[in-house]
Amino acid sequence: GFKCGIVGLPNVGKSTLFNALTETAAAQAANYPFCTIEPNVGEVAVPDPRLDKLSAIAKSAQIIPTRLTFVDIAGLVRGASKGEGLGNQFLANIREVDAIAHVVRCFEDSDITHVEGKIAPLADIETIETELMLADLDSLEKRVDNLTKKAKGNDKDAKEQLDLVNRTLVLLREGKPARLVERKAEEERAFSMLGLLSSKPVLYVCNVEESSAAAGNAFSKAVEEQAAKEDAVAVVISAKIESEIATISREERTDFLETLGLEEAGLDRLIRAGYSLLQLITYFTVGPKEARAWTIHRGTKAPGAAGVIHTDFEKGFIRAETIAYDDYVALNGEAGARDAGKLRLEGKDYVVADGDVMHFRFNT
Ligand code: GDP
Repeated sequence: GFKCGIVGLPNVGKSTLFNALTETAAAQAANYPFCTIEPNVGEVAVPDPRLDKLSAIAKSAQIIPTRLTFVDIAGLVRGASKGEGLGNQFLANIREVDAIAHVVRCFEDSDITHVEGKIAPLADIETIETELMLADLDSLEKRVDNLTKKAKGNDKDAKEQLDLVNRTLVLLREGKPARLVERKAEEERAFSMLGLLSSKPVLYVCNVEESSAAAGNAFSKAVEEQAAKEDAVAVVISAKIESEIATISREERTDFLETLGLEEAGLDRLIRAGYSLLQLITYFTVGPKEARAWTIHRGTKAPGAAGVIHTDFEKGFIRAETIAYDDYVALNGEAGARDAGKLRLEGKDYVVADGDVMHFRFNT
């Protein structure tokens, strides 16, 4: 599955947020099969109102949302790239995630120490990103000699890699994250093979005090501006509020959120933001037994999508009976869509669209 790592300086609210995420998931366990993998790893359901709509039309007995994994990665301090704190382990943990949710302290509270002595979210972001960039510089500099030798020996791949590595080094030395390196589509694979920490997509999570949860504050506004400049995304959240609403029922939650002037739980926004940050989309399988959401990368073709359900579906793929979400709803389900000619037979080159309702035909 897809993994999002939660990072941030100490005392910014990472654990509070992570616990709220997993408690929410646990509270929903009656409806959704839930599993805790490790103490610092939790799976959460991706909220999707479309799934409720589809299941109502098909009268599905069960609703199974798709899920996203969050990993609480503690231990980042200034100097991590030089092995300070839990430095090395921390960096190894980041290597394994697909995206980074970077929690930034945007609340003032004199009872809670700030490791750097003052509330300054942009400086905090810089502290963390610097550690990631230093680790990347280190790993790329180690590669350069070897690649240079190979490139001299007329190794075409090495030449291309060296070029990519050098361009990335220029950027890192300017203090810019590797994700901003301009690269061609055909370099994408080599780029991801470099396993750079600062190449991961970043979502800033501005943790504000309760009273600022709806509108944000000056700190969170500064983070949002910064995010816009560097190809990142920002979400305003109050970890405290999230931990309070994590355990209450859905009905109570709506009332509680209303009194705070919030339309939906911050966690729902966070999960969805993580989902789109990872460039993930959802397709559905719908029937009387269950209505289920599945996650794929944007751009995945039908056999690959089928493979998420089972490798046999991919190996023996014949075709996919496909109905667009809007058609399924407007025509009141599969039979209606079929009668209206909106059930398409798609082959192996079909690129799955977000919201497609699919039924795979395959050889066994
Ligand atoms: P971590 O070290 O980043 O995991 O931070 P924690 O989640 O353990 O939070 C550190 C402290 O800050 C705890 O005492 C939390 O209760 C408190 N805290 C977290 N979020 C907020 C917030 O939005 N407002 C206030 N006032 N305190 C918070």
